[in-house]
Amino acid sequence: MHSTASDLLRSVFGYTQFRGQQQAIVEHVAEGGDALVLMPTGGGKSLCFQIPALLRQGTGIVVSPLIALMQDQVDALREAGVSAAYLNSSLDAESQREVERQLLADELNLLYVAPERLLTGRFLSLLERTEVALFAIDEAHCVSQWGHDFRPEYRELTVLHGRFPHVPRIALTATADPRTREEIVERLGLQQARQFVSSFDRPNIGYRVMLKHSPRTQLMRFIEGHRGEAGIVYCLSRKKVDDTAAWLADAGIEALPYHAGLDAATRAKNQQRFLREDGVVMVATVAFGMGIDKPDVRFVAHLDLPRSMEGYYQETGRAGRDGLPAEAWMIYGLADVVTMSQMIAQSESADERKRIERQKLESLLAYAEATTCRRELLLGSFGENFHGPCGHCDNCVEPPKTWNATVPAKKALSAVYRSGQRFGAGHVIDILRGVDGERMSQYGHDQLSTFGIGADIDEKGWRSVFRQLLAAGLLATDAEGYGTLRLTPASRDVLIGGREVHLREDARPVRSVRRRRDSQLVTGASIGIEAYEQPMWDALRALRAQLARQQGVPPYVVFHDATLLAMLRALPSDEQEFAQISGVGESKLKRYGRDFLAVINATG
Ligand code: ADP
Ligand code: ZN
Repeated sequence: MHSTASDLLRSVFGYTQFRGQQQAIVEHVAEGGDALVLMPTGGGKSLCFQIPALLRQGTGIVVSPLIALMQDQVDALREAGVSAAYLNSSLDAESQREVERQLLADELNLLYVAPERLLTGRFLSLLERTEVALFAIDEAHCVSQWGHDFRPEYRELTVLHGRFPHVPRIALTATADPRTREEIVERLGLQQARQFVSSFDRPNIGYRVMLKHSPRTQLMRFIEGHRGEAGIVYCLSRKKVDDTAAWLADAGIEALPYHAGLDAATRAKNQQRFLREDGVVMVATVAFGMGIDKPDVRFVAHLDLPRSMEGYYQETGRAGRDGLPAEAWMIYGLADVVTMSQMIAQSESADERKRIERQKLESLLAYAEATTCRRELLLGSFGENFHGPCGHCDNCVEPPKTWNATVPAKKALSAVYRSGQRFGAGHVIDILRGVDGERMSQYGHDQLSTFGIGADIDEKGWRSVFRQLLAAGLLATDAEGYGTLRLTPASRDVLIGGREVHLREDARPVRSVRRRRDSQLVTGASIGIEAYEQPMWDALRALRAQLARQQGVPPYVVFHDATLLAMLRALPSDEQEFAQISGVGESKLKRYGRDFLAVINATG
């Protein structure tokens, strides 16, 4: 029997339709073509090589840099009835020999390997004795030094083309940065490959950026809206990770820390719990997240600024891989802007590198301060033309008010200038507000013409002005990293060139408490679970957790939230109806159909 791509999509994976460019990619690779696939996280890259591997003779070899990720994908494939295995350093010698035997006996549809393993002479010669259906190079941005996860071994993957010229290669990445893309093509010798570029928009992610005033309270309120849901909270420092995790745990949230300073066993344990239990909040430095394939992360919160737009996109992109609603939330303030600038100034990097880092920070700040659609800016920073309003970011939902701040901006800039460009924002604000004190008279700043000219604006107001002037490049911090403010070439345009300055009015943090209380009662409210659906939702999740535990796999390997949600809404009453649920393939129908039907009938 000869199956088609659509047959396999339905019978193995339980999906009725290909998404986006999946079908074109699958057909191209199945026919032996090389491909470079650029698709956002959650776009559905895995099927693009899994289905061609099933359609073609022989074994599909998948290069993947991450052990945890390999394991997950192999578990998921086996659940779906596909013969799959992996080879990496986590296997003992005997298991490795068994996998090699299966490979030679042509018993595997897919074999995942770490790059350093693939490139050994021993493994390459094994491959020469077997039929290879295709090479899939996952996380292909690892070849790029410019990108964020450089892996030297990836460079060597060019040998594949030389040694196996007739085997199609498909490289995949979620990196949106054009420069990284160019490097992938060059480094992997993919000049002839067909490129499939998808939009990098993640329509199910809502974006929100707020002014930081009381971070813990703000975070707690935000998390309360995601009760019982998995999320990631990013902090800059290890200490802040530890403190925040402990504080959340005290407040009754299932929160765990993760950073490079924890010992390997604790890190592994926390990651495992995040993957295997429902509703764990991971508080982490950016060391956490790369290769985390958990589909039901419902939110990503930034308590500190990420380093760049690309970093922000990747980190927030870990939310909502399953396509259900998810939130990207960030708070920041003047102090963060100064800290980030200082970190760059004081780093060991060469000047050229620092210049790039500063540029990256500037575009991130412009994003944070934006008054227009955030999605438009985010995608625009990767060269993609998206036209807002998107209707799903804070600026679109509630357009911020702006005010003409030209006069205060001039006052601020001249106060910086007149005090010799040697002071930080705090002192300059004191000058503007005419705050008397020892320091003032010591420097003679109470004699300045700018002393007290800004008494009409309170300190908070001035901090808002300085933050935004910094973000707009109308002020800069010193290159040495002391946090002192200085003028920039653009400051002149304001001081004497007649340039107007419009700033956003920082929103007052008022939110109705009562509304939150209601939604708090419902687990899964953020994906639309209603109070009356709660009992069945909980029952379905409990059954899934139990089945997952029995098999030692994460719950989402059994069924994704999206599939449980489809059950909840369709309320299938027999196996035939159950088979229609998206995400239920033949293998899962056989394995789980009866158990889930029993729960639905009993609870419904
Ligand atoms: P990526 O690797 O691009 O981040 P995945 O391959 O993990 O994305 O897929 C993301 C999610 O979308 C998974 O839950 C997957 O099962 C689901 N998915 C992929 N293709 C389809 C499809 N054609 N129909 C429905 N769901 C799909
Ligand atoms: Zn928008």
